[in-house]
Amino acid sequence: MSSTLTKISQTPGSWGGTANVHRNTYRIFCVLAGVLNPLFGGVYQFTDPTVIDPPWARLVLSVGILLLLSLSYMVRWVEKNFIGLVRGYFYVMIVFIAGLTMANGFSPNYALGLLFGFTVMGFAFSLGLQKKLSPLRSYLLFSVMMTVAAGVLTYEPEVSLLIVMVCVSSTALVIYVVAGAKMKVEDSAEASEHRYHTLMNAANDAILIGDPESGLFVDANEKAIELLGRTHDIISRMPIGELFPAKNRDRSLALFEAHVFKGESLNDGITVARQDGTTVAVDLSASLIDVDGREYIQGIFRDATERHRYEDQLIRAKEQAEQLLLAKTNLLNNVSHELRTPLTSILGFAEILSESLEGRDKEHAYHITLSAQRLFETVNSVLGLAHLEDGGPTLDIKPLGIAHVLDETVALLNPIAEQKGLSLRFLDHSGQAQAFADEAGLRRIVNNLIGNAIKFTKEGEVEVEVSADDSYVLIRINDTGVGIAPAFLPKIFEEFQQESTGLSRSHEGNGLGLAISKRLVDMMKGSIEVESIKGRGSSFTVALPRAATREEIATGQAPAAWVSRQNVLRGAAQS
Ligand code: ADP
Repeated sequence: MSSTLTKISQTPGSWGGTANVHRNTYRIFCVLAGVLNPLFGGVYQFTDPTVIDPPWARLVLSVGILLLLSLSYMVRWVEKNFIGLVRGYFYVMIVFIAGLTMANGFSPNYALGLLFGFTVMGFAFSLGLQKKLSPLRSYLLFSVMMTVAAGVLTYEPEVSLLIVMVCVSSTALVIYVVAGAKMKVEDSAEASEHRYHTLMNAANDAILIGDPESGLFVDANEKAIELLGRTHDIISRMPIGELFPAKNRDRSLALFEAHVFKGESLNDGITVARQDGTTVAVDLSASLIDVDGREYIQGIFRDATERHRYEDQLIRAKEQAEQLLLAKTNLLNNVSHELRTPLTSILGFAEILSESLEGRDKEHAYHITLSAQRLFETVNSVLGLAHLEDGGPTLDIKPLGIAHVLDETVALLNPIAEQKGLSLRFLDHSGQAQAFADEAGLRRIVNNLIGNAIKFTKEGEVEVEVSADDSYVLIRINDTGVGIAPAFLPKIFEEFQQESTGLSRSHEGNGLGLAISKRLVDMMKGSIEVESIKGRGSSFTVALPRAATREEIATGQAPAAWVSRQNVLRGAAQS
């Protein structure tokens, strides 16, 4: 098959191109008429020298038709109206033959000649009717009437006029029916060809049709013309191999053939050649299609330049991201080691000093301890957030008594609240409900939220409340503190965001607590929300998926979140 495709042939494609067929056939009719007319005259004279059949008349008609034929090559108007003119000649011929038949007393020979002439010209007439049967109908009616007239005007005809009439009428009828049927077939073929071209041109991809036998393309749609920058005429006689750039034509053609004939997938890197010598990278899918028992190659091409560009960009971006991630991990490891180690020893020695010193020195040592602790917390928060973004620690998410964790955290932070003269209250409406949570993560979340509430409240109270609905355990932390401006609320869970910034900052902090809390809540498949009125106070709500109690499982009343989670776990265990 390779040899057929690589064959560089100059034979034009045979798909379509029938525009001049009818005109050329009519030219053949002219030659036949020009030759047959004197020949018939000669034969009639030969069989019966007494017949009335003027040779000059036959010669005039012959010369006339051959002249028309010559003019059709020379005069544009004749060429354009050639079929109509030849048909006009047929009318003249019928009159001539009918006249001869009449002049010869409807002898059997002339009656036969009339029938023959009538029939062959009828069939010739039916060719190229172009959707209209009326010209044929007129010709047949005229011929029948001429025959009838000739018969009626003949005194003592030699043959039975009735038989001649029946033969002529039936022949006319058959010619008419056959021509009608043929026209229907042509119409439907034309309609299907129109449909085929409409579909081809409506496609978003370039489509090329190739003939494996000749090794040439035979058709192309508009997208293909656009993609290759070649005209339809050039493509539809182009050897298939010329589709590929000369530089790697053999390799591309081998890949193409393996794809078409052996069903092998095409690997990337197929390019096609444009008329202007440039090349285009394409995605290509080709197959053999059977059209009325003959095989054609249908190739569908898509310009892959943009896709390749995006892919390159993606690969570059991925490589950069990987490099950045590596650099970040290295930096974090170094920072972690380089900051934590000296801080631990500063903290340790400051504590020893504050124990052994007295008076102002002891106070100084105490301040060193506090500052080192703050720095230690900040370092831990930064590293903790970075760790979470890296994919994070693996959380041990399991049913957990939330009230118990809250109770302990409130107890731990109560001294700080008391120091500020705040009342810190804990209300448990959860009825011992459990939620799916990681204990260490949850402690960190509530520590941040309750710590913030205390930090940002000057007077009044901080209230921690836990409750449960069908699907969630809800932790709400309300304070009567400074509140949050509406403009800051959308950014509140982003890292390093603080409402008061710069040197005039009213509160300590690094702006990471809420960002870490949000990520942890997300990892536990929960949600965190905030409502606040500036100057009146804030309320943070954390919702965590509720786990079923023993009674609920026993009575089949487990919460929806618990049931779906169990289904997921079961699914995971089965797979
Ligand atoms: P930090 O408290 O260390 O600044 P957070 O991430 O915990 O960092 O909080 C970010 C910012 O959100 C705080 O700086 C503050 O402006 C605001 N914020 C958080 N909680 C409250 C609260 N309870 N009342 C008022 N503002 C708050």
